[in-house]
Amino acid sequence: MIAKVIYRLIVVLLSCLPVSQVFSQNAMDFSQVEIKSQKIADNVYMLTGSGGNMGVLTGADGVILIDDQYAPLTDKITAAIAAISDTAIRFLINTHYHGDHTGGNQNLAKAGVIIVAHDNVYRRMSTENFMASFNQTIPASPTEALPVISFSDNVMFHVNNEEVVVTHLQNGHTDGDSIIYFRNANVIHTGDLVFNGAYPLIDISGGGSIDGMIAAQDYILSLADDETRIIPGHGTLGDRAAVQALNDVLITARERVRKLIDAGSTLEQIQAARPNADYDAVYGNGFINPDRFIEFIYTSLTQ
Ligand SMILES: [Zn+2]
Repeated sequence: MIAKVIYRLIVVLLSCLPVSQVFSQNAMDFSQVEIKSQKIADNVYMLTGSGGNMGVLTGADGVILIDDQYAPLTDKITAAIAAISDTAIRFLINTHYHGDHTGGNQNLAKAGVIIVAHDNVYRRMSTENFMASFNQTIPASPTEALPVISFSDNVMFHVNNEEVVVTHLQNGHTDGDSIIYFRNANVIHTGDLVFNGAYPLIDISGGGSIDGMIAAQDYILSLADDETRIIPGHGTLGDRAAVQALNDVLITARERVRKLIDAGSTLEQIQAARPNADYDAVYGNGFINPDRFIEFIYTSLTQ
């Protein structure tokens, strides 16, 4: 409960930031950010700070890190990992291309870390992107920040007595999303395919779609059992029930918006009708407010 209240506070604070600051590290003050580690299995941790949630697998073969928030936080992140691991970071997996998940890439690459991500993460990070729903241009990343290894469907890591299964799921939050399943530890890092307890961002111009989000969550639900720990892209540590609840919201909201589109309503009319009012109080206080959530679904269904 307290964790939930704190999360709400964080998302409210985050939603007060100008949008331009959420996806780029320019002008953000990271001096007060603290990187916190939460142990969720024998050698798996969730790390939080500012930006997307990180996952860490420790062990004698070297650390696998999932996502790396913003560049000014790299020293704090590596210090937090050094406090839980005797070995250095060997691999970094990016769940997708957004700057709050890839901002530390260049620093970590310079330190010798091998970056791995889906082909479309490489493709989008190598060129300038225009994020239409936020009217924001994201410049190409420096060469060192790009994945050194990219894959089209899936890739598996065999380290630290763990089977780390990285699976690409199509056109959900973006067109380059991967989930990371630690099979033995029974932990899944979902990237931004799950925002725990909040409406998710769907980056339509980045290849995302409401149908893909729902399908990706269906896949996550098919892997998870009641014991599975789920690291969401944003929000507190979750479980299968939390993903199921969000999935139900997305399916219902898509149906409601579709009906209004079929009846001839414009985006503005649908937003004014507040078709998801019953969910807004719980899910609509985050970075994505109810109007923007409807805009994602509307754009996705009509484009
Ligand atoms: Zn994202």
